[in-house]
This record gives sequence, C-alpha cells and structure tokens, in this order.
Amino acid sequence: MSFFRENIDAMDAYVPGEQPAAGVRVTKLNTNENPYPPSPRVAAAAKTFDFSRLRLYPEALPSRFRQVVSDAIGMPADWILPANGSDDAIVMICRSMAGAGGRIAYPTPTFTFYETQARVEDATFIEVPYVGEAFDFPLDHLAGADADVTFVANPNSPTGNSATNEQLDELAGRLSGVLVVDEAYADFAGVNALELVGKRENVVVLRTLSKSYSLAGLRVGFAVAQPGVLGGLLKAKQIYNLDAVSAELAACAVEDQKYMKENVLKIVQQRTWLAGQLQNLGFTVWDSDTNFLLARPPRGNAAELTAALKQQNILIRHFSSPRLSDKVRITVGSPEENRILVDRLRDIAN
Ligand SMILES: *Cc1c(COP(=O)(O)O)cnc(C)c1O
Repeated sequence: MSFFRENIDAMDAYVPGEQPAAGVRVTKLNTNENPYPPSPRVAAAAKTFDFSRLRLYPEALPSRFRQVVSDAIGMPADWILPANGSDDAIVMICRSMAGAGGRIAYPTPTFTFYETQARVEDATFIEVPYVGEAFDFPLDHLAGADADVTFVANPNSPTGNSATNEQLDELAGRLSGVLVVDEAYADFAGVNALELVGKRENVVVLRTLSKSYSLAGLRVGFAVAQPGVLGGLLKAKQIYNLDAVSAELAACAVEDQKYMKENVLKIVQQRTWLAGQLQNLGFTVWDSDTNFLLARPPRGNAAELTAALKQQNILIRHFSSPRLSDKVRITVGSPEENRILVDRLRDIAN
C-alpha cells in the first residue's frame, strides 16, 4: 500500500551535492557556489531591515526587485517573474505547461532537476544526447522531438559549453512548444539569450542569484518571458514565493552590478589558471563558459579521485552516468582554494 501517485513511487528523489554543516572546514568545489561573499550591500541591508515589516505578507510580485532586475538586464519589469531560486521557476513551468502525458525534452547530460520535475508531473521526458566527446548541441533532434517544453541549460552543466544564440533562435523557431533557456551560468559566459525573449513568445530565460551573485543560500532567481506567457506561469506560482527579506536582499545584490562583475572576472581568470594546471597534471579539460571545469583525470579513475580528495577535505563532484563516470566537475574557487586542490592532486599523482 502506498499513499503516493504511481509516478512518485516509481521515481528517485533529486540528489543534491554534499553540503557540509556550518563550521565544517572543507575546500568546497562541488556545487558551483561562488567563493566570494555576497555584495557588502546585502549585509548592510540585512542589518537595517525593518523586521516589524514581517508582520505583513510580502508583495506577491515584489515590485522593487522586479524594477532593479529590469534596470540591470534591460528588460521590462512586467516581463520578470521572481522565483524562489530558479528551481522554483522550473517547477512552475513544468506544472503549468506539461502535466500527465505532456512532453518535456532536454539534451543530456545536463541538470537532472528537469528529469525530476518531468517525473513529478508524470510527463513524458525525452532525453536527447549531446553529440560526441565535445558534447555538441543536438539542434535537429531537439527540434524533431517538438516537446511542449524544451529545457536547455546554457551554458550547460556539467559540460560547461554553450549553444549559440543562432542555434537557440533556430530551435525556438522550429518548436511548437516553449524553449526554456536556463542561464544559471550566463554571467560567466558574457553572452545571453535575452534578445530572443523579445523576438519570440515561446522563449523563456531563467536566471539565478545562486552563482554569480554569491547567494545560493538566499534562494532567489527569476524567469524572463513575454507578459502573456508570464501570466500563465503566474497561475502555477505559490502565492508568496519570495519572502520579504529575500526580495529586499536580492534587490540590493542585483543593484551592485559592479561587484558581481568584478567577482565574475576573477573567477574567469582563475578558470584559465586552473585549466592549465589540470592539463599539466595530465587531465583532459573541456572548454568552459561557466564557473566550473569538466575534466578527465589521466587514468579516468574519476570516482576514486573524488573519494581520495574527500579524505583530504576537498569536495569535487563525480556523476556516475555512463558518459560522465570517467570525469569530474570542479567548481572554480578562490586562488587559495584552487592552489590547495592542485597541490593535493600533485601529491596524489606522485
Ligand atoms: C545551479 C543551477 C540551477 C539552480 O539554481 P537555483 O536558483 O539555486 O535553484 C538551475 N539550473 C542550473 C543549470 C544550475 O546549474
């Protein structure tokens, strides 16, 4: 006997990367967090926040956050749907656009939460492999699947590479459903697909404050879509999905574009350094438009290497799926963290 729908009983839960308890000292390069603290404006705003406001419900659509995001990305405020992390936006999209019998497609390997949500909705999910060892974008096969919702993480995790805007534009033009471009890492790539949202009603862009803004713990993201599409997504939204504190602190972070861009630049420079060091140690390193590197250790013993580093309090990520099992995903940390990793890898190699 079960209390659950059959599809829930049949599925596995999403497995997040390991999060050590507060105070545990590790070099944490496993979940693509930012090594730098959030903007000092966030801490300042937390100190002066008027907590008597918490007596009241927050705005269902936080207006200051929408306006600040609008100014930062150059899209109208009423095209911006605030979300409790981009995960929340993914849930709203699946719920409102693809229920039981609906079709959800995505290229693989990718962020596994798309599959999780497809299973929760009892939708049919269509996995289209990225092509070859370079993980090239499978445009024709995604277009051929013609799903109700097509998710493309761009740049993609864990491969680190990107489809071009020309490819995304062509794909959106060939789909009868919606193309969701999940831009969790776009700030590290320097290009994005926002112009496609203006051009095509069936394109939705997702952003998060978890990576480039150093706010994974706050849980804030947003979707960008034309107002007609946004209105449909709103119907599947929790009434108050963003709390008053998060909405205010997130607005302060997005206002500080200069700070975010300085940190992105430091991480991109460290990405180049770390890739070179890994290559010196015999790793194969894939090109990355993100804050992480996909790398294959010289002997392909990725699971053992991940375990050996964990013994030394260094966390990186290993995925056991067939095309990834000989590779590791390493978040680019601070110069000091990256140095610690490279030193330990050199010890292990000797
Ligand atoms: C990190 C990540 C997210 C999750 O973002 P949250 O806003 O923290 O929920 C979404 N998509 C991809 C591809 C990611 O890597």
